Amino acid sequence: MTGPGVELDLGKIRDNSALLVSLLGRFEISLTGVTKAVRGLPEVAAAMLGAGAVAVADSRIENLERLRTSGISERLVLIRSPMMSQVDRVVRTADVSYNTEVSVLRALSAAARNAAVRHGVIVMVELGDLRDGVRPQDLRSIVDATFELPNLTLVGIGTNLACRSGVVPDEDNMATLSDLAEQVETSSGSPLEVVSGGNSANLDWLQREPDPGRVNDLRLGEAILFGREPLRRRPVPGLHTDALVVRAEVIESKRKPSAPKGHREETAFGASAPVVDRGEIWQTIVALGHQDTDPDGLEAPAGITILGASSDHLVLETPKQMAPGDSVRFLPGYGGFVRAMTSPYLGQTLTAPRSPS
Ligand SMILES: *Cc1c(COP(=O)(O)O)cnc(C)c1O
Repeated sequence: MTGPGVELDLGKIRDNSALLVSLLGRFEISLTGVTKAVRGLPEVAAAMLGAGAVAVADSRIENLERLRTSGISERLVLIRSPMMSQVDRVVRTADVSYNTEVSVLRALSAAARNAAVRHGVIVMVELGDLRDGVRPQDLRSIVDATFELPNLTLVGIGTNLACRSGVVPDEDNMATLSDLAEQVETSSGSPLEVVSGGNSANLDWLQREPDPGRVNDLRLGEAILFGREPLRRRPVPGLHTDALVVRAEVIESKRKPSAPKGHREETAFGASAPVVDRGEIWQTIVALGHQDTDPDGLEAPAGITILGASSDHLVLETPKQMAPGDSVRFLPGYGGFVRAMTSPYLGQTLTAPRSPS
C-alpha cells in the first residue's frame, strides 16, 4: 500500500521546461527556473536545468543551500530580499540576490568581503503590484550605492507583478522596465546583464508582444510545474497540467444520507454550506485535510466530488463503495500543492524522466 503523498513527474516537468525554454528563446529571453513550490527539490531543479534553464531561483536560502549541497553548480538566485539575519548564508550559497534596501546591500557587501566572494545584485523595481521593489524615482540612488559597495556586482534589474495585487504585466509596465534599464546603463556607463521581466504571469504579455524590449529573462515556477498561467489559471497549450499529484488514502466508505441531520451552526472551518437532500450516497473519506493541503484547490478524479473537509478528513462522494487502503489522486492548485509539499505527514514520490530517445 502506497500511503499518502505528493507525486512529481520529472519527465513532465522536463517537457514543460523544454517547451518554455524554446518559447522564451524565440524572444531571446532566458528561463530562470523557480523551485520554491517544491522547496528546492534538487531533482526538479536538475530537470529544469537539463531542459535549458540558465539558473535556478528560490525565495528561501534553505532551499538554495539544499540545491548547492546536492551538487548543482549553475547560478543560484535568491528572489526574495535577503533577511539581515541571513546575509552570511546568502553570499556563501547564492550567486545573485534580489534587493530593495541599501542597508541590506551594505550587510551583503560586508559579508561578501568576509567570505572573499563577489555577490551579484538584481535591484527590484515596483511597477504597480505593490509587493517588493524600489519606486522608479529611487532606482538611481540604490544602483549608485551598489556600484560603490565593495564585493558587489550589479547584475541587473527586475520587477514582479501579479503575485500580490493581480496587476497584469502589459505593454506599459514592461516598457517602463525597459526604459529604466536604459537609464541605468546610460548613467552608469555599463550594460546590464539581466533585465528580468517577471514570472509565469508574463507569458500572456510575451505572446501578445512581438518586441519584449530589454527584457531578457523570466522567472518561471507555476507554468513549469502546473502547465498553467496564473492570471486566469488557463492551461498553456502544449504543457502538461498533471505533473503534480496529491495522493490520499481511503479510511472509510459507507452509504450515508447526503443531507446532515440536526440544527446546524458553523463548521470547523467557517459557515456551513447549504446542502440539497439527494437521498443516500456513497460517502468516502480519505485521510487528508486542511492541515495537509488546500481542499478548495483540489481537482478530484472524474466521477468523484469533494463534499467537504476538516483538518484531517476529506469527504468525497464516490460512484461506488471504495475499500480502506485504496488511493485517490487529486490535481492540486498552487496553494494546496505548496502546503502538501510542506506537510510532514505526506511523503514524496518522484517519477524519473523517460530517458531521451
Ligand atoms: C515566486 C516568484 C516567481 C515565480 O512565480 P511563478 O508564478 O511561480 O512563475 C518569480 N519571481 C519572484 C520574485 C517570485 O517570488
